[in-house]
Amino acid sequence: MPVTVFEHMSGLARSLGAINLGQGFPDAPPPAALTAAAMRAMETRSQQYPPSAGVPELRDAVAAYYARTQGLALAREQVIVTSGATEAIAAAILAVVGAGDEVLLFAPAYDAYAPLVRRAGGVPVFVPLAPPGWHYAEAAIVAAISPRTRAMIINDPLNPTGSVASPEDLAHLARLCITHDLLAICDEVWEAVRFDSRAHRSLLAEPGMAARAIKIGSAGKIFGATGWKVGWLAADAALAAVLAKAHQFITFTTPPMLQWAAAEGLADPAITAALHADWAASRKVLIEGLAREGFAVLGSAATWFACIDLAASGIALDDRRFSERAVREAGVASIPLSALWEGAGGPTTIVRLCYCKPPAMLEDAVARLSRWRSGL
Ligand code: GLN
Repeated sequence: MPVTVFEHMSGLARSLGAINLGQGFPDAPPPAALTAAAMRAMETRSQQYPPSAGVPELRDAVAAYYARTQGLALAREQVIVTSGATEAIAAAILAVVGAGDEVLLFAPAYDAYAPLVRRAGGVPVFVPLAPPGWHYAEAAIVAAISPRTRAMIINDPLNPTGSVASPEDLAHLARLCITHDLLAICDEVWEAVRFDSRAHRSLLAEPGMAARAIKIGSAGKIFGATGWKVGWLAADAALAAVLAKAHQFITFTTPPMLQWAAAEGLADPAITAALHADWAASRKVLIEGLAREGFAVLGSAATWFACIDLAASGIALDDRRFSERAVREAGVASIPLSALWEGAGGPTTIVRLCYCKPPAMLEDAVARLSRWRSGL
């Protein structure tokens, strides 16, 4: 099995001393209040195994956060805390996918989905999303559904493109799940990292989806603290009980001090508002800088990423070649979109850049890319 593209590009950036706009993580430390809460919890509270499903304070805080921000009515029993969203994805797949079950994935897809489906004995079936809108074409999905189809995995907002499913997309995805008796594993880790002034809406909230959708969230993304590895699953109580059993034999539990700190953070809207404002500002710096230097930036509404189209920018390299050369020759690491695309026919001229970095670093990265590109 190859090393992930994220690890590959971060490794190159470290060894070459390049600016790392590849793997998605903020350079700034998480909000001071969050760090203080974790330290306080470490000093004053238990450091022994918390309950496998999560400390009650965090399970309640997740439910309250979703009630406040997305209008969802979840009870504590419906929330299972995991060691990051990747563990939540693994638990969901191991819990619901059996030998020979087909699982619909939408390309581009986060790189963990297909290997985890295969480990569960399932078969990933890819349905391509087409640029520039990356919409979920109903006819293509219907054509991919077979009697063996058990579930679909929806990443909304979508990494790497930063696009968001439209209300129509969500409605027809829900209809398809209901008609074909499918479960939806909803990786919504980017729900709080949105810049289109619209509130996030979960597939779980669509009529008829309450017992069919498994919603996955991440404190790492909400608080810009990717190393914390605190995530969660939310689902109907009966389904949540099954998910809890899968989780208990993966990591069993998650560090309690980080759970208590995340609970405090979720209860304070000022923390997330300040982070969001910072990200909006640096996002603008990267997108405007790239556009000013003649790079064709694709439209996006969410995530920590902006994508550029190389062909439309007048660069005659494919995405993998661009990323491999840019990290060595320009000193800027990026992620080629085709690394997140299994099978043939995907775009090969789109590269993803992460913007949650200091503005001066982003300006430097844009200047380096621009200089290098003029010598190509
Ligand atoms: N979610 C991160 C990204 O998309 C990568 C996480 C990882 O390295 N596995 O960049």
